[in-house]
Amino acid sequence: MTSHDRPADRYAVVGHPVEHSRSPRIHALFAAQTGEALDYGRLLAPLDGFESTVRAFAAGGARGCNVTVPFKFEAFQLAERRTPRAELAGAVNTLRFDADGWWGDNTDGAGLVRDLEHNAARPLAGLQLLLIGAGGAAAGVLGALIAARPARITVVNRSPDKASALVDSHAELGRAHGVTLASAALADAPAAQDVVINASSSSLAGSGAPVDARVLKPGTLAVDLMYGPAAQGFLDWARAHGAQGRDGLGMLVEQAAEAFCFWRGRRPDTAPALAALRAELSGGANHGSKA
Ligand code: NDP
Repeated sequence: MTSHDRPADRYAVVGHPVEHSRSPRIHALFAAQTGEALDYGRLLAPLDGFESTVRAFAAGGARGCNVTVPFKFEAFQLAERRTPRAELAGAVNTLRFDADGWWGDNTDGAGLVRDLEHNAARPLAGLQLLLIGAGGAAAGVLGALIAARPARITVVNRSPDKASALVDSHAELGRAHGVTLASAALADAPAAQDVVINASSSSLAGSGAPVDARVLKPGTLAVDLMYGPAAQGFLDWARAHGAQGRDGLGMLVEQAAEAFCFWRGRRPDTAPALAALRAELSGGANHGSKA
């Protein structure tokens, strides 16, 4: 039987809001490329109704879902089994509804590191990294950043106690990989970093870069996890100080590919999907910012 003979397996992205999400488009591109029979939609869950929305979706025969703001922590609780990277992050962005229970994974970190090391061709080993933010996105990526073995990662956040708690929860992994971890307030961010990653929602709030430009040096790779027009302020700031700016579109496509692989057991080629999304966004298609 070919993939065209059987009904498509159903998946969706669940969030609030969710109408801006580019994930249905990305998974449609992956399905077309791989020949996998997949039907991927959007599910708007009420703020107090994530669990009932997902349970109804699964009961209807769906095979899994992606989870976006603000439900990644609730998804972590709902999963009966979790991958080690989801355990470390304390957040789940991908659920798989297996017959013997629900699996939770977090693909954000692998998506970011793949985008930086492969798409942006910037191997992280031995580098000085600055991670801005200590919310769900920062928690999702810190483990994968450590596994890439930079020399040092400094986490800075508007609320410094959250940066310090995030570093504490990753201390053992940092030691195991020989990576120095530190935390600080935004104002105390270290100067002249090799890679600066804005995982805060400052761009969403329209406030651009939340740290002083001394964190940059010529050639710094400065990444905002946002994409579309909202990321432009950060990218302009990076360019104005001699850094190489990069938005979060590559991470979005790469984390989707990881989720696709978690569900279907095969990894799509991300380059054509990223090129298509980039072209669509530059045509002014969407102001998207999240998975
Ligand atoms: P959370 O709400 O969990 O955390 C927000 C973080 O941003 C906190 O650390 C908060 O600090 C900080 N923050 C908020 N406003 C400001 C500001 N004006 N100045 C400085 N810091 C601020 O959000 P997430 O972590 O889930 O998401 C963060 C960003 O990452 C979003 O923009 C999201 O779109 C993006 N993202 C992109 C993905 C992609 O695939 N490209 C995937 C996942 C997320 P405090 O602790 O003090 O409140």
